[in-house]
Amino acid sequence: MGKRIVMVGAGLSGAVIGRMLSEAGHDVTVVDSRSHIGGNCYTKRDAETDVMVHVYGPHIFHTDDEEVWNYVNRFTTFLPYKNRVKSTVGGQVYSLPINLHTINQFFGKALRPDEARTFIATQADCSITDPQSFEDQALAFIGRDLYEAFFKGYTEKQWGCSPTALPASILRRLPVRFNYDDNYFAHRFQGMPEHGYTPMIAAILDHPNVTVQLDTVFDPATAAEWDHVFWSGPLDGFFGYRLGRLGYRTLDFKTFRHEGDYQGCAVMNYGESTVPYTRITEHKHFAPWESHKGSVLYEEYSRACGPKDIPYYPIRLVEEKALLADYVAEAQKTLNVTFVGRLGTYRYLDMDVTIREALDCGLAYLRAQENGTTMPAFAVDPL
Ligand code: UDP
Repeated sequence: MGKRIVMVGAGLSGAVIGRMLSEAGHDVTVVDSRSHIGGNCYTKRDAETDVMVHVYGPHIFHTDDEEVWNYVNRFTTFLPYKNRVKSTVGGQVYSLPINLHTINQFFGKALRPDEARTFIATQADCSITDPQSFEDQALAFIGRDLYEAFFKGYTEKQWGCSPTALPASILRRLPVRFNYDDNYFAHRFQGMPEHGYTPMIAAILDHPNVTVQLDTVFDPATAAEWDHVFWSGPLDGFFGYRLGRLGYRTLDFKTFRHEGDYQGCAVMNYGESTVPYTRITEHKHFAPWESHKGSVLYEEYSRACGPKDIPYYPIRLVEEKALLADYVAEAQKTLNVTFVGRLGTYRYLDMDVTIREALDCGLAYLRAQENGTTMPAFAVDPL
């Protein structure tokens, strides 16, 4: 007999786990408080320009995980897309991630790779041997000049605090290259779904054992009515925020339109703190195989997430981590609920990692069923 399972949230986690369990014969209901599926990956065509818009900001699919790549390609066609990000600083446009072109342009040099390596080593602060903070990591890695131009202001805007307070792991997301490779991501597989992410997630959810209910708020008090609940909403939200709120950054997007090509690339970062937004996204460049006269753009502003805002980036500083530990302890006392995804586990997850964890989590549930064991509150330790 199939179990009655509810997935709270129709984003990647809910869709992927829901699909796996429905294929195994379980009866899956996916609820979402929003009026659309896809969570923050949701894409939609702009009525005025017909451009495919990444409604909750840029999402570029990249992964080293072949199984995840094969999984997403099973549900939609991915077309080749390379993320080439630029950064405007001091009235000039530079290429990111920091590469030989950036170094040569920034320092007005014509260095070859080995020369650049040696030069950057003279810039870097070699007294920092075990960098803990974002700032220390940057100073040890690239030195003060590049750090202040490209990272300091941007990071202060993005995270609303000093990079001395942020963990080094955030910077470790970005490489430094001593060649002219300006592909933002170093992963083997990268692409963009031909028709955006919404049809991909719709295809994942398209199974006879899956029922989707939009505009539906799930009440955690009803969890016991289900055989199992997979909660991809905010972890603290499940508990009515009773211990306090986990800190997030939210984003505001100021939309504007333009005739023709506004900036020549999908993502233009602004490193300086004097520019109030972090970046401008020109959505039509995410679909270079399409052609549009008009253009729709987002100026992206980051700020502290209030109770009515959409949470985007978990902050995870010392204070938040202490509160997180308290919520994790609460979650471990729940009987039939598993917390999944970026909000459910309060982690800065890329899409591919979210899918990998969802596949593993679905499998863990099926194994637990087979073995008669209890599915834990977390398939991955959020601490
Ligand atoms: N970052 C920065 N300057 C940039 C781009 C990124 O300082 O031009 C820092 C910033 O702190 C950001 C982090 O590096 O939060 C990770 O950047 P990524 O592009 O991965 O951020 P995402 O696209 O996930 O917001």
